[in-house]
Amino acid sequence: MRQAQLSTPLRAAHHSGIREISGLAASTPGAIRLEVGQPDHRTPPHIVEAAKRALDEGWHGYTPTAGLSSLRERLAEKLRRVNDVVVPLEQVVCGAGGSGAISAAVLSLCEPGDEVLLPDPSWPNYRLLLAVSHATPLRYPCPPELGFLPDLDRLESLVGPRTRILLVNSPNNPTGQVYPAGVLRRLGEIADRHDLWVVSDECYDQVVLAGPAVAPGMRHHADPERVISCYSLSKTYAMTGWRLGYAVGAPEVADTMVKTIEGTTSCVSTISQKAAEAALDGPQDCVAEMVASYRRRRDMVVEVLSEARLLTIVPQGAFYIMADTSATGLGSRELAMRLLSERRVAVAPGSAFGDVADGAVRISLASSDQDLREGVGRLCELAAELRQRGG
Ligand code: PMP
Repeated sequence: MRQAQLSTPLRAAHHSGIREISGLAASTPGAIRLEVGQPDHRTPPHIVEAAKRALDEGWHGYTPTAGLSSLRERLAEKLRRVNDVVVPLEQVVCGAGGSGAISAAVLSLCEPGDEVLLPDPSWPNYRLLLAVSHATPLRYPCPPELGFLPDLDRLESLVGPRTRILLVNSPNNPTGQVYPAGVLRRLGEIADRHDLWVVSDECYDQVVLAGPAVAPGMRHHADPERVISCYSLSKTYAMTGWRLGYAVGAPEVADTMVKTIEGTTSCVSTISQKAAEAALDGPQDCVAEMVASYRRRRDMVVEVLSEARLLTIVPQGAFYIMADTSATGLGSRELAMRLLSERRVAVAPGSAFGDVADGAVRISLASSDQDLREGVGRLCELAAELRQRGG
């Protein structure tokens, strides 16, 4: 008889609340899928060709744990060109997607029982990563009434002796908020005052829908010695399945992240690394074109939601928009369930991202124009009916 137990924090953790809707949507014929968080674009052909070529040329083996030097050089060059971050390649460590970079950072910095400040709402995977790391989340509110920006006083009041990491995510999933430089600076000051590491998830750094083409990064607004910046090729080049991301940290942190990757995944797929080199070497218009499509769809959805009085904020980055469903009188999970069963439209409930966004649902702008128009239209109809019935 087996006596062995599963990991306690992982047994207690639940799967993402988006997965529940996705599972139901997959078995709902003709469902419009606005809950998924990945580009609807294909990886540009010159990147796909480079991967095929890499296989033909025999790039079949392991690479160094931190990634091929030829790739890390190009990533350091990208950081200079795009993010105005100047670091040697030794400080750049490749991971399996932005997820691999963020998890290498958190696992390298954290000890069991440490606390990590997480935004509420935020990407559900952070919560699971903390369960893997045996760390405890402290959720700092970024509520709709503050335009989904962090409540900095509340954040600081949560810090205690076991708090080790402040996790920041801008451009933000699920809200589409891009933190202004002033907010990043104040977050950096809090980190200084309490001697916290800052893990800055900047996976959407190049998916910016307003203003300059690149979002302000944490390294410029905090002591870079305490910042680990995490990036990804997933969104920039529509490469979610290729699993290529990277983190930048101080030399000692970078070296520790290499040990973490060595102890978990060994290295990122060599084929993906060669494809990433082609992505970085090749023409960059594909990035601008994809971002333009998200911007166009954002404008369309903003107009429809605004007319239906369901608009929260106009997203400035990433490819999501939060619709305000608070007036329906239903919690976001129940609303998402009814929207799927009664109107065959899947959206991600705000409750999947934490507590403060339960009066909203997330719509992915990485969906076709037609699906967005039809799906958001049906959401507005259902919300209007529920509001009328309640009123
Ligand atoms: N951070 C955020 C906020 C995300 O939304 C995602 C993907 N949905 C990631 C990181 C990680 O993406 P990937 O591992 O594909 O780079």
